[in-house]
Amino acid sequence: MAVPDDRDTGLREASAGSSLLRVDEARRLILAAVSPSAAVQRVDLRSALHRVLALDQVSPIDVPPADCAAMDGYAIRAADAAPGSASVPAVLTVVGSALAGRPYVAPIAPGQAVRVSTGALMPAGLDAIVLVEDARLRGNQLTVPADEAPPAGQHCRRAGDDLARGMAVLRAGRVLKPADLGLLASIGIGDIPVHPPLRVAYFSTGDELRPLGTQLDIGQIYDSNRYSLFGMLQRLGVDLIDMGIVPDDPIALEATLRSASERADAILSSGGVSVGEADFTREVMERLGEVLFWRIAMRPGKPLAFGRVGDAVYFGLPGNPVAAMASFYFLVRPALYRMMGAAVGVPPSYAARAIEPLAKRAGRTEFQRGVFTRAGDGGLHVRSTGNQGSAMLRSMSEANCIIVLEHGRGPVATGEPVDILPFDGLL
Ligand code: AMP
Ligand code: MG
Repeated sequence: MAVPDDRDTGLREASAGSSLLRVDEARRLILAAVSPSAAVQRVDLRSALHRVLALDQVSPIDVPPADCAAMDGYAIRAADAAPGSASVPAVLTVVGSALAGRPYVAPIAPGQAVRVSTGALMPAGLDAIVLVEDARLRGNQLTVPADEAPPAGQHCRRAGDDLARGMAVLRAGRVLKPADLGLLASIGIGDIPVHPPLRVAYFSTGDELRPLGTQLDIGQIYDSNRYSLFGMLQRLGVDLIDMGIVPDDPIALEATLRSASERADAILSSGGVSVGEADFTREVMERLGEVLFWRIAMRPGKPLAFGRVGDAVYFGLPGNPVAAMASFYFLVRPALYRMMGAAVGVPPSYAARAIEPLAKRAGRTEFQRGVFTRAGDGGLHVRSTGNQGSAMLRSMSEANCIIVLEHGRGPVATGEPVDILPFDGLL
């Protein structure tokens, strides 16, 4: 990884001076500075869930492999019942049955039909299905009135309808979902080339932080960032290396960073990058690698350190719990996905109407916590979770979406459309 050269980007000035970096610009620079994994390992299908596909997968077979019934009913030759055929209405003789996995193989003469169940191979020469619930059957005689005659192909699945042999079924870079596992199984592929999981080390910094299970003295707080970071990282399917809590001490910080850089592809820390604290962090970073200290025009999450420590990519997140999460989602997550070799775009946003005014200052992107609901008219409504302070973790927990208020936008009035990013999807 190369930290962008200041001669090319003017970044060092941006990071040192008073100007703020726009969120989209920061993301672009970060993405340009990290590179995708080239390593490939083969895993069995179940272990491939949530992993990143390393090579395009091409179907070696047709799915379904042959024409088959899509519904339960009677397979007929469409021409036998078509208006203008030999007898109207057509009276066909049911000569046998085919089940899924048990084909009917005897030759079939004109005027004959075969009972079929869903998934059964279409008997040779038959090309349409009369649904079992519509069938007029007496003994083995099936009557098909002209106005009910099914056209050829009715309720049949053709060979290759779902997937044709030679078709690229899934592309490299795909983060494999449950349906993808099923899809790969349906073409007989059980051995999957994926990128090895990214190794991510993470820790919290701050003299005030205490681990769970201990008593708080005056001025101390529990370390919460390591838990929200754990949760967010876990969702990405990376290998996690928890480096604990590091005090505000250059020697301890240096030792932790050194050890993290030997074990991980990416290092995330929280705290110690704000203006008041960055100086000693900066001093340590200068010895270990190349790290830029940015001030980003976003709220929450203004300070961010980004660069390289040893061979690892380093992200120094702000300490405030909501700021740490917002920086993770909007700046770190895209970079980690890129490093994982994943082609993951920006998650889809939806238009919603603000049902109350939202305070917003032009000149920075704001990621406000919101609760959206579906309104009576079918559209989406969104309200704020209230206090938007970047230490208010409760707001993040109560929210079901982030309201993204773009850089140039000023205050939002009731009824105005805003973009929301829902937290949870089905998959
Ligand atoms: P800092 O970025 O280190 O200046 O921290 C900003 C604020 O976030 C301070 O109020 C810290 O106490 C708080 N903070 C920093 N790290 C954590 C953490 N791991 N868990 C909870 N709060 C934190
Ligand atoms: Mg601190």
